Amino acid sequence: MRGDGVHVLVVGAGIAGLASARTLHEWGATVEVIDRQPAPPLGGTGIFLPGNSVRALGLLGIGSEVARRAIGIDRQQTLDHRGRTLFEIETDSLWHGVAPCLALHRADLHRVLLTGLGDISVRWAASPEAVTFDDAGVTVTVDGTPSRYDLVLGADGVHSTVRHLTFGPGAVQKVGQWARRFVVKHDVEPATWSVRLGRGSAFLTIPIGEDQVYCYVDGPLNDHRSLRDLLAGYADPVPSLLDALDAHNDTAAAMQTGDIEEVIVGSWVRDTVLLIGDAAHATSPNMAQGAGLAIEDAAVLAETLDSATDLGAALTMFERRRRPRTDWVREQTHRRDRARELPPALRNALLRWFGARIQRANNRQLREQP
Ligand SMILES: Cc1cc2nc3c(=O)[nH]c(=O)nc-3n(C[C@H](O)[C@H](O)[C@H](O)COP(=O)(O)OP(=O)(O)OC[C@H]3O[C@@H](n4cnc5c(N)ncnc54)[C@H](O)[C@@H]3O)c2cc1C
Repeated sequence: MRGDGVHVLVVGAGIAGLASARTLHEWGATVEVIDRQPAPPLGGTGIFLPGNSVRALGLLGIGSEVARRAIGIDRQQTLDHRGRTLFEIETDSLWHGVAPCLALHRADLHRVLLTGLGDISVRWAASPEAVTFDDAGVTVTVDGTPSRYDLVLGADGVHSTVRHLTFGPGAVQKVGQWARRFVVKHDVEPATWSVRLGRGSAFLTIPIGEDQVYCYVDGPLNDHRSLRDLLAGYADPVPSLLDALDAHNDTAAAMQTGDIEEVIVGSWVRDTVLLIGDAAHATSPNMAQGAGLAIEDAAVLAETLDSATDLGAALTMFERRRRPRTDWVREQTHRRDRARELPPALRNALLRWFGARIQRANNRQLREQP
C-alpha cells in the first residue's frame, strides 16, 4: 500500500515522532507533527547509541549525519566505586557487522532529526485535547479545533496524552530508582563508556566531544541524600566531575532530574491510533535502548505499511512484529535491576567472572534485524 492521500497526525516531536514523520513522508503520506513544547529542545544532556540504534539511523538515511556529530565508543568498562575494573568489553565484539556505537549531545541528535523532516513543519505548543472514534475514522481536537485523520501516532513519550485519551490511565510504573544527568567539561578516557558501581548507586561517564563528558547517576528512590553524600566513597574522577558540576554557572539548570519509569500497555493499537516509542514501551535506561527502539519503530512502521493492504492490518502487524523485541528489552532491564540489588561484594565477584558473557547475552537478540 502507498501512503498517497493518507493524512497522518504525529503527536510528539521527540525521537520516535521525528523519525516516524520522516519515514511516513517518504512512504507518501501527508504528515502533520505537533509538540506541546514551545520550541525545539536544544538543551538536554547526552545520549549513548548502541550498534542497533546506529543501524536503525542508517535505515532512515541519517546515519552519517548523526555520526559526524558524535564520538565513536570503542570500549565499555565496568568498575567498582573505587575504580577497580570488574570487566571490560570492546564494543566491536558486541556489534561487529551491525554498526559502531556512538555518543553525542541530545540536542545534536534532535537537530539531525528535525533537519531530516525536510518540508514537514512542526507545530510547537500544541497538544491534543480529545481523541474520538466513529465509523469514518479518528478525530483529534487541538486548540479547540477537531480534525479528522487516517492515522494518528502517539509518539508523546512516557506520560503520553494520546495513550491516556485513547486507552485510559495506568500504564506508567516507577522502577525504583531516580536518575540525574549533566554534561561538564572534563577529561575522561577517550572513546570509553565507563560505569562505576556503588551500593545501590551507579555513576556513568561517556565522552560526547570537545572535552565534554556526559554523566549519569542513579540511586534508590527512597535515598534523598545529596550527590556528594551518596557518592562519598567513589574514587576519582567522580569527585572532580562533581567539582566541575559545582563550578557550572547554574548548577540546578545544568542537571536533569527524574524518577525512572516504564510503560506497560496491553495494546498499542486502537482503530487507526498507534502508540510508538516511549509512549508504547518505555523501559529503564540501563540497556540504553530507548532511542534505538524508537528509531527501529519508525523503520519497521514504514515497512509494514508498505507491505499491508490496509492501515488496520499494518498496525496490527507492526505491534505483532515489535512486541517480542520491546518485551525482551524490558526483561533484560529488570534482570539488571535485580543484579544491582545484590550485596556489592557478591555482585562484583559475579561481574568479574561473568560480566562480559552477560553483556554479550544481553545484546545478542538486538543484533538481529528489527
Ligand atoms: C535518565 C535517562 C537516560 C537515558 N539514556 C538513554 C541513552 O543513553 N540511550 C538511549 O537510547 N535511550 C536513553 N534513554 C531513553 C530515551 O531517552 C527515550 O527512550 C527516548 O527519548 C524516547 O523517545 P520518544 O520520542 O518516544 O519520547 P520522548 O523523547 O519523551 O519525546 C516525546 C515528545 O512528545 C512531546 N509531548 C509530550 N506530551 C505531549 C502532548 N501532550 N502533546 C504534544 N507533544 C507532547 C514531548 O514534548 C517530546 O518532544 C534514557 C532515558 C532516561 C530517563
